[in-house]
Amino acid sequence: MNKITVLAGGIGGARFTRGLLHHLAATRPEAAVTVVVNTGDDMWLDGLRICPDLDTVMYTLGGGINEEQGWGRPEESRRASAEIAAYGRGWSWFTLGDLDLATHIVRTDLMRSGSTLSEATEFLCRRWQPGARLLPMSDQPVETHVRLGADADEHRAGDLIHFEEWWVRYRAHVAVTEFVQLGLAAAVPAPGVIEAITGADLVILPPSNPVVSIGTIVAVPGLGDALRGTAARVVGVSPIIAGAAVRGMADACLSTIGVKTSAEAVGLHYGSRSNGGLLDAWLVDDTDAAAVPALAAAGIRSAAVPLWMRDVPTSAAIAAEVLTIAAATG
Ligand code: GDP
Ligand code: CA
Repeated sequence: MNKITVLAGGIGGARFTRGLLHHLAATRPEAAVTVVVNTGDDMWLDGLRICPDLDTVMYTLGGGINEEQGWGRPEESRRASAEIAAYGRGWSWFTLGDLDLATHIVRTDLMRSGSTLSEATEFLCRRWQPGARLLPMSDQPVETHVRLGADADEHRAGDLIHFEEWWVRYRAHVAVTEFVQLGLAAAVPAPGVIEAITGADLVILPPSNPVVSIGTIVAVPGLGDALRGTAARVVGVSPIIAGAAVRGMADACLSTIGVKTSAEAVGLHYGSRSNGGLLDAWLVDDTDAAAVPALAAAGIRSAAVPLWMRDVPTSAAIAAEVLTIAAATG
């Protein structure tokens, strides 16, 4: 299993992939990893193209992440965004650190000169050397919005607002009735994405948000079918432990689409590939061991192992479990 592809959101996908690379370096140095990254959280802000999940993955794998926050750069300052705020512009609730701004400026500069997002990402990665090939899910903009179920500040119930505004400004506390990916119908997978899925030995769904990270990636036209049809083993890792999202507010996303916040429910939501779904195997946390028989009955091989990514070694141990269950899945 030397060709491995990970479909990642931000922090969960990034931390898992860092552990995977660590494990592979020690056990299988010939392996090559491609990460297909969610771009549904992308947006224009202050004239710049912001790609939160691509940057989280790039900084985490490249050694430039703020470990406490899980996003952005360490030793940041906010002098530029304070100046933007003094003009009454920008989003006061969305932090753009000075060092991070440099990434957005370079990306925007490249894209204004005609580069695709894939090309701009490849360029940025020349500096960060993430140790894996990073591909945006699509070069076309696909921006996740939420439809508000209640009034909030200047917004009315029924309005569509950008996912990041709901997530960061409102901490997902305002009820929403649906997720809408603007641009999705016109989007195609970025160059290399379909090949990375159909040509892999193993495709991994890391512990990323099932709705607005993995859900958005597999909704790109053609991408979900590639995953359902690949000869690769497809193994997922639950982002839900003991009925709760480990970090963040994924429960608010799951409840909006009518899925219970449990490792079992998310596994069943993805479904078995033997039955038109996405998974061959699904790892749940030790504390969710009781879910294993129901998952097996639904055609999803399952095992209960520790799933807390506390540091690189614990993340690498989860990656080792993914390779083990993949090898056992015929
Ligand atoms: P985002 O784009 O930054 O929100 O990141 P992702 O979509 O990649 O991942 C977010 C999800 O990761 C959260 O919803 C959590 O459920 C999950 N997560 C975060 N830390 C851990 C962890 O240590 N273990 C597991 N199993 N899941 C985690
Ligand atoms: Ca994200």
